[in-house]
Amino acid sequence: MKQKHEIRCNYCGSPAILKPASEIFHDPKQKGYVYVCSHYPSCDAYVSVHPGTKTPMGSLANAALRKKRILAHQAFDQIWKRQIMSRKQAYYWLSDKLGTDPVHTHIAQFGDYRCDQVIRESRKVLINNRQNVSAA
Ligand SMILES: [Zn+2]
Repeated sequence: MKQKHEIRCNYCGSPAILKPASEIFHDPKQKGYVYVCSHYPSCDAYVSVHPGTKTPMGSLANAALRKKRILAHQAFDQIWKRQIMSRKQAYYWLSDKLGTDPVHTHIAQFGDYRCDQVIRESRKVLINNRQNVSAA
């Protein structure tokens, strides 16, 4: 399996290494792999791979960013789950709002600043559509 370029940690610049998820999460039931900073756990940055592949879902994230990406996804996903837009339309809407290329509009790639934008803009849409915004 070829790897286009070496994956590095965004925080400390160290190379990321592919490890079994079960080892990182200390849970034998965890399947698949995770790219982990070679300084883990002193540098707490990792990213999961797409199931059945060795392709990372996004850039490496530390605990705070991992949490924020989850919140951003929860807010954004409500837009298409509540059928305010189709999933595809929602991604186009998001790329338009953020000024990002639709091809590269992936919350898993976003940093703190972009995640905040996603949460803010998604909530506006949900409020404008008189949907209950969960406190999550
Ligand atoms: Zn690191």
